Amino acid sequence: MVWMHHVPAVIPKVFDKFIWNKTRDEKTIYLTFDDGPVPGITDFVLNELAKRDMKATFFMVGANVEKHPSLAKEVQQAGNGIGNHTFHHLDGYRNSDALYLEDIEKCQQILQETLDINPVNFRPPYGKISKSQSKLVLPKYQIIMWDVLSGDYDPDQSAEKCLSKTKQYSKNGSIILFHDQQKTERIVKKVLPEYLDFILDKGFQTAVL
Ligand SMILES: [Zn+2]
Repeated sequence: MVWMHHVPAVIPKVFDKFIWNKTRDEKTIYLTFDDGPVPGITDFVLNELAKRDMKATFFMVGANVEKHPSLAKEVQQAGNGIGNHTFHHLDGYRNSDALYLEDIEKCQQILQETLDINPVNFRPPYGKISKSQSKLVLPKYQIIMWDVLSGDYDPDQSAEKCLSKTKQYSKNGSIILFHDQQKTERIVKKVLPEYLDFILDKGFQTAVL
């Protein structure tokens, strides 16, 4: 599993309730893009998806929704899924439960005000969420993780490696993690068109979470 290096060696029971992938019985891939909306990359992603009639789920940072409301609306109007990724992109391990929960609710509020939605899907920034935070979040949200990490944020990984690894691990029901933010813009622009053509050629459908 490519995500293992992000997860503590002893996985608490509560992590069993997280969603790491969807059914392996259907030829469907769940593309996800975290950290947007960010002009210059989110619109690029939308365009590449639309060209192939594909959909994805965007885990948005509340502060970016506040800065770029029209771009958030474009994501929604294209029929993509939208999830909560906290307001300030908080690291769960470094923040109190109260502050963490408050930041999630603040993100939820801006999504409601801007897009008139109340998402049920939450993804913890950096995949870092404590057991006690999980217990507080799970009654209201589904915690969506991933089984394929593109590694698009890794400055030591070439675009070629990012593409080949992401292709290699993609299978039925995979949840693929990309980012639509400034630090990953260059690599995502190189990798995404070819990756989307690859899943199309392999006969996968895409769906929102
Ligand atoms: Zn993030």
